[in-house]
Amino acid sequence: MIPEALGRLDLGARLPPVMSTRFSNQPSLADEDGEVELSAKMRADLLDFEAWGEILKMYGRTMRVAVALTDSDGLLLGKCHNPQPVWNLLRHAAADWGTGCPFCITKGLPCAAVADAVRTGAVVVVHDQAGLTHVAVPLTLGHQTLGAIIAGQVFYRYPEPLLLRRIAKNFGISAQDLWDVAKKERPVAGTLLLASGDLLRALGHAFLQQRHSAILEEKLGETNDRFRWLAEGVRDYALFTTDTTGRVTSWNVGAERMLGYAQAEIMGQNFSCIFPTEDIQRRAAETQLRKALGTGRAEYEGWSIRRTQEQFWANINITTLSGSEGAMQGFAIIMQDTTERKKIALVLEEAQHERARLQEKFLSHVSHELRTPLTAIYFFTTNVLDGVFGDLTTEQHKHLALALENVTQLKDMVSDLLDITRVETHKLTLAHQPTSLVKVTSEVLSTCRTNAVAKNIQLHADFAPNLPLVWADPARVRQILTNLIDNGVKFTPDSGTISVKAKFFGEDHDFLCMSVADSGCGINAENREIIFDRLAQVKSSGEVSRSGLGLGLFISRELISRHGGRIWLDSRPGHGSTFYFTLPVFSLAKYCSHIFSGPNLDAGSVTLISIDVAEVKRGIQADILQEIRQILERCIHAGQDALLPATGDDGPRVTFFIVACTDPKGSSLIASRILRDLQNFDKASHLKPQITSTTILVARSQSREEQIREVAARIESSVQEHLLGKERNK
Ligand code: ADP
Repeated sequence: MIPEALGRLDLGARLPPVMSTRFSNQPSLADEDGEVELSAKMRADLLDFEAWGEILKMYGRTMRVAVALTDSDGLLLGKCHNPQPVWNLLRHAAADWGTGCPFCITKGLPCAAVADAVRTGAVVVVHDQAGLTHVAVPLTLGHQTLGAIIAGQVFYRYPEPLLLRRIAKNFGISAQDLWDVAKKERPVAGTLLLASGDLLRALGHAFLQQRHSAILEEKLGETNDRFRWLAEGVRDYALFTTDTTGRVTSWNVGAERMLGYAQAEIMGQNFSCIFPTEDIQRRAAETQLRKALGTGRAEYEGWSIRRTQEQFWANINITTLSGSEGAMQGFAIIMQDTTERKKIALVLEEAQHERARLQEKFLSHVSHELRTPLTAIYFFTTNVLDGVFGDLTTEQHKHLALALENVTQLKDMVSDLLDITRVETHKLTLAHQPTSLVKVTSEVLSTCRTNAVAKNIQLHADFAPNLPLVWADPARVRQILTNLIDNGVKFTPDSGTISVKAKFFGEDHDFLCMSVADSGCGINAENREIIFDRLAQVKSSGEVSRSGLGLGLFISRELISRHGGRIWLDSRPGHGSTFYFTLPVFSLAKYCSHIFSGPNLDAGSVTLISIDVAEVKRGIQADILQEIRQILERCIHAGQDALLPATGDDGPRVTFFIVACTDPKGSSLIASRILRDLQNFDKASHLKPQITSTTILVARSQSREEQIREVAARIESSVQEHLLGKERNK
């Protein structure tokens, strides 16, 4: 620990000006002159009589006076015996003086001269009843008076005979003896007394200063020693410092042990020698120092190299070192050999991957094995229920319907299990496309309606007008909505309601927000935190919750966050729950941002190329569409043109759109390339590709952002016009 006084003194001296200003409103230990209040311990150390003894004795001998040291209350800290006769004479009488002044004849009182000296800060001369004279000089450090030195028992004048006799009597000394002594002493002139007082004061002041510095130095030395012992004692960490350019300026034993360089050979070398060659080539050390310079600190994990060329994995912490004026002086670097930890982490990671791989293999195997019989059971049950194999009795119908319900549930569980494995193995992929929430919701509602009707639950949907498309995977949005609505139906008693809504997310027009509200059992605050966890099921939801696996919300949250949205809920137990989730709005400007660059837009126009293909055979449509997209991708330039995503609304006639940042000549080249490649692809010419181009001018006067917004809006309206035109010509 830094000694209290030292710490306080350092604070003022070391802080850079900015920090001092910041602390200026705080209660300060320093007064307005910046002087730090001395602690009681420091005061006691400064007035340690042992230390003062020599100098006081010397003064006493030279000046032939008795000398003593007191604290600022005038209480005696120690005195120097002087072989002068008066002192000897009075000594035996002074046995019971206690803490009183040894010079004043009045018993038991602190020295009055000291009190005056402390109060006035000046040299004070007093004469006592015995005619003895004392000089008190205050000892001050800055503005603080610590105590005083008194020199005394000098005869100022010969004592009055009467007085002498009274004193001698009081103290049991023979008046003659006292007189004899007095006579031997030469009376001291007042001016001489003051001069010797000033001398004593100067002496005291100089010694006090010297002592103060010595104490501080000693404490600083102790702190430095402690720090050195600490740095040297740390053997498992390499601790070293460098100058501002990375050259080593200190090197502890730990560094020697870890890196193999002796202090003498590494001092002055750049510390980059501890990095592997490839890191030296890409200037990894400089990069880390620069990073530390920027933020004051840098942490780095990577390979490091010992003198023996052996590599080890290290954690490196770099901190900047500043001098008292705040000037940058270099860096302190702490390194830890984390090879063992890294090995364990790698083994663990490997084990986790292996576990996930096995789990995935097992689950996909099991689910495929389950799926096949389940599909067969589902198929035959539906056929039987539909009356394909003859009429059913009411009882038979009821039981088979129940069987179908359970099979459906099993099928859902199997796909949830597969999804979970995909989440854990990071294989959950999304096929983003501009998606209509209205369309997806109406599809989901029609499938969920059967369950709702069975419980007499009302299903409503409410959409804000003119909602834009979202950038999402429609199959996944369907899955999320189905899960939320199915949960609503599951946890809502008969004759309840469920309503699904979609609107903009508050003021934020970059996201749409969907909500699914039910009038069911609700979820208490504690459970609201956990229901999104894997395998979470709430006991209070009752028996009904057992029909799931507790995976639906976990998967939904994962899917939503992969789309860039989030999911949350409002609920009151007994009053139903509302689940909300957001999805990003599809923005053509964002989709094409990579081609809407300065040079591309500065050309003054972009071209929208539409490619209509017809008669795509049903059944294999998806495959063919995918292949056509690949052909089109090959016909365009990646940094200049963009193939717009499919809208998912395609009928047998499908349109693909390309935004080409090129002039009409360039776009006709693209068109002829597309025509040739599509004809090659479809030998039987069933595709009948028709290509049209629309030139869209880029207004020059606008800012880049406005240009992009306007071009994107014009492309969108051209796309709409084209699709509407196609609709009319059907
Ligand atoms: P499960 O397949 O079990 O329904 P989910 O992850 O979809 O799994 O839901 C987890 C749990 O959250 C449910 O078991 C249920 O306890 C609770 N829960 C989900 N939705 C609702 C809701 N609309 N009302 C009440 N509780 C719900």
